Amino acid sequence: MYRILILGPQGSGKNTQAELLAKKLGIPMISAGDLWREEIAKKTEFGLKAEPILAAGNLAPNEWTNELMIKRLARPDASAGYIVNGYPRNLAQAQAFEKIASPTHVIELAFSDEEAIKRLSGRRVCAVCGRNYHLIYSPPQKEGVCDIDKGALVLRDDDKPEAVRKRLEIYRNDTEPLFNFYQPRGIVHTINAAQPIEKVFENIVQIFS
Ligand SMILES: [Zn+2]
Repeated sequence: MYRILILGPQGSGKNTQAELLAKKLGIPMISAGDLWREEIAKKTEFGLKAEPILAAGNLAPNEWTNELMIKRLARPDASAGYIVNGYPRNLAQAQAFEKIASPTHVIELAFSDEEAIKRLSGRRVCAVCGRNYHLIYSPPQKEGVCDIDKGALVLRDDDKPEAVRKRLEIYRNDTEPLFNFYQPRGIVHTINAAQPIEKVFENIVQIFS
């Protein structure tokens, strides 16, 4: 049974790879971010408490995220394995996770800060319809305007270099030590995430063949 963790900095393509792998292995992809978005949408007690914290760009307290994750992993669809995305993010969460399950594979998407800033600063979103573009990978037909409604394409505050740098620093300080934590078990697989999406996925699939 696979209990896979996928870890990588922002911009490394973690969500895409996690989704592709879940489909390939036929197991659910469980995302900490999705769990929180669900709680907020359903206006649960947890969701209401966490909403202002997450809206301000901070992480919810570890104990809350641990509790959400424990509840989610107890659901029947996770009984035959899973891929966890966006969790654990720090040592405290990793230790809490150990009490429920021990990962069989930890996939590290290695990606430099320069690459992350380059990739994320190229993202644009239409101010009218919300469609996403990328100046290099999926540019609009006409510079600066949406193909569909001619809305202005803007850089999200979240994707501005200062904001990206702040999140990368948190990743390097809090999340990267997890590789040392899991390394002695021989379960860490490091993949170069600066390659094209298909190549990264090919490398990941090789781990399981
Ligand atoms: Zn648009």
